[in-house]
Amino acid sequence: MSSMKQIVLATRNQGKIAEIKAIFPDDIEFLSYDDFERLPEVVEDGRTFEENAIKKAIEVARWTGRVALADDSGLEVDVLGRMPGVLSARFAGPGASDEANNVKLLDLMRGVPDGRRGARFRCVIAVATPGGDVKTAQGVCEGYIAHEMRGARGFGYDPLFVVPEYGKTFAELGPEIKNKISHRAKALEKARGILDEVLAGRGPIED
Ligand code: IMP
Repeated sequence: MSSMKQIVLATRNQGKIAEIKAIFPDDIEFLSYDDFERLPEVVEDGRTFEENAIKKAIEVARWTGRVALADDSGLEVDVLGRMPGVLSARFAGPGASDEANNVKLLDLMRGVPDGRRGARFRCVIAVATPGGDVKTAQGVCEGYIAHEMRGARGFGYDPLFVVPEYGKTFAELGPEIKNKISHRAKALEKARGILDEVLAGRGPIED
């Protein structure tokens, strides 16, 4: 039996897992997809971040019998009508690399002047119980798209996303700063109350 509170993170994205673990306190044991055999993949076919996060959290909670936390997030670029949005991970096609997605975004933004390059990262966190109860929290981080990739840290669109207060991309700022101001940090901060409430109602996990 584990006396730690357990949560399953409904993601395989190591960048996200690292950020979530860094933001939450030590008294929670985080499991992820890789700790379970033969978990089916959740198809992310929602039209909004919220739909996808809820679907992922509910399905993973049901499959694992544990409280599950899912994040759905992405980049919204104003001049592109808020694209890539829910398509952020596969902007350049199914299974696209971060590099390919960034190159596609830069191509689409070529010639767009400063002042019209506004964008934001949005993150919706859903926390679900095996019984099907679910709650969500949302966070947003405003910025703009750089003219070229800058910095080597982080993941996804981090090299192109400039935070105005610092004049630097997330990839230049690194986790010490990113984890304080990011869309995910803000959503997780709000989700903390939901998690405390949900976990308080559950005893230690019997292994
Ligand atoms: P998801 O796994 O469906 O939520 O896809 C999220 C995608 O949005 C990622 O693959 C990235 O392309 C992008 N994204 C979300 N959050 C971040 C971030 O913090 N930095 C950079 N890219 C992000």
